[in-house]
Amino acid sequence: MSEKIKVEMNDWLFNAGIIGFVNILEHSGDKVEKYDNYIEFKEEVLDDFEEKYFKYLIDTYEKQLSWNKIVSYRPIIEHFKEEGLDQFNKDNLERLNSYIKDVKYYTKSASYKAAYNLIESNKNVIELSKSLKTIKVRKKDTIESVLEKVNYSHQILEEIIDYMDNPSHKKYLAGKNVIYTIVKNSWNGISFLNPQTKEKNIYIDFKEYFVKPTTEYIEIDKSKYKYNCFNCDNQIKDLKNHYGFLNNIGFDVDKKASHVWKFNNDAAMCPICKLIYSCTPAGIMYVYNRGIFINDNINIASLINTNNKIKYEINNEEKISSGSTYKALMNSLAQKYNNKIKYEISDIQVIRYEDENYRFNILSKQMLNILNNTSEDLSKLINSGYKEINTYFNIYELVIDRLFNNQNLFTLVHKLLIFKLSSPNNCRFNNLHIKRVLNINKKFMEGMGFMNVKEKDIIKSASGSGYYLREKYRQKGAVDKLSGISYRLLNAIKTNNKDMFMDTLLNCYLYAQKSVPKIFLDALKDEENFKNIGYAFVTGLIEGKENGGDNNAK
Ligand SMILES: [Zn+2]
Repeated sequence: MSEKIKVEMNDWLFNAGIIGFVNILEHSGDKVEKYDNYIEFKEEVLDDFEEKYFKYLIDTYEKQLSWNKIVSYRPIIEHFKEEGLDQFNKDNLERLNSYIKDVKYYTKSASYKAAYNLIESNKNVIELSKSLKTIKVRKKDTIESVLEKVNYSHQILEEIIDYMDNPSHKKYLAGKNVIYTIVKNSWNGISFLNPQTKEKNIYIDFKEYFVKPTTEYIEIDKSKYKYNCFNCDNQIKDLKNHYGFLNNIGFDVDKKASHVWKFNNDAAMCPICKLIYSCTPAGIMYVYNRGIFINDNINIASLINTNNKIKYEINNEEKISSGSTYKALMNSLAQKYNNKIKYEISDIQVIRYEDENYRFNILSKQMLNILNNTSEDLSKLINSGYKEINTYFNIYELVIDRLFNNQNLFTLVHKLLIFKLSSPNNCRFNNLHIKRVLNINKKFMEGMGFMNVKEKDIIKSASGSGYYLREKYRQKGAVDKLSGISYRLLNAIKTNNKDMFMDTLLNCYLYAQKSVPKIFLDALKDEENFKNIGYAFVTGLIEGKENGGDNNAK
């Protein structure tokens, strides 16, 4: 039987599965025919699908795996093997010690131990890594005194790396890694992620659980089956393949469909759909425990292009961090935007996986315009942030998050200014960053039609006024007073109290013996202008040039 199997697009999670399925097969050189809203493939491509599945995931996520952390040290050892240890210094030793700690930690972890059992080898990696010790140089000794130990450690480490790097070992070691680092974000509790699974070999387990039932289902006569797949409507024998293995279900709770099935215990799927769902980790792009998927569902090709662009962006980052998802997402959106003629742009559904939950946003054409118009200011915020109770917050992400939810940035600006006043040591941003946030906010409000487009650059001139007022206070030796004044102004802006704001302002200018700048007349006209101008003014007021730190802002 070589009938073609057809799989149609559906909700976003299933679409992510389709993309994953296509990625997996194409990575192994198999053919899938892509049409506007469905794909077709021959049953033969399911031969050895478990191998293809892991190969794709391991190759795609390699940089994020602990396996890679172990083997990527090889060039360093090789370098010292060639050059000798003459140049080996304290920094090298520090790095070696931290590497040894990592190796010792990983090699005895439960998932590595489980992988050793699947590998045919006489090497006992646990024993090898036990013989590794971090190396200390005593105070009166020189680095030369430990070189012999370094040499010994290098030999042991090389043996461990050889073991890990062997392709027939890697498939299990990195395979286990990929399950717990990546796949677990998408689904859980069944097959190799069922803690009670009898089959210890992850490849066989996947094959038996997902692939075999699929091929059997394809070939069998289904005409007598009484039930229907909730996803594709194909006839199914029973209702045992339910949706429970998919994390947080992943359905947009706003959608009607979710209500239907949520209260309907009868929802079950066919083996083909289940196999497709198992491929979601290859469709959604994860960075550790964060994920991103753009449900650009005009057609299969565009769905693949947009999401593979994200994959490409992330894998080309020098150092992948969880923040990479936002950057990659923005770059992918920007490319999409620039490739299209403006009127062709339609709403885009963006799905983010964070804190073990899916978050949904529909980005309107209007919002895509705004994101495009603010991309320069946005990109300058990437490394800015602040620390609050031991947590580091990235301003770039906070801004994007608010924009995605169609929220203005006033509360964020307020928070940043209060932080700057109250705990400057926890701030990794300066007044130029705040001005950029205000610029973005202004463009957002104009773009959403909340504010008339003003020709004048109100942010620049209001913050300039703040700066010059500060200079006056400095000349009078009264800079200390500005902190209290700033708090009062911020409070007035937050509570929309224009009188209090103007009172404080007039007093300041009276004290400085300067006339009040014209821009504040604009401020009184409407609320949004008042806030934009007020916050920009305080931004200039609380941090003059003497605080410097502009280097991050460039
Ligand atoms: Zn189905």
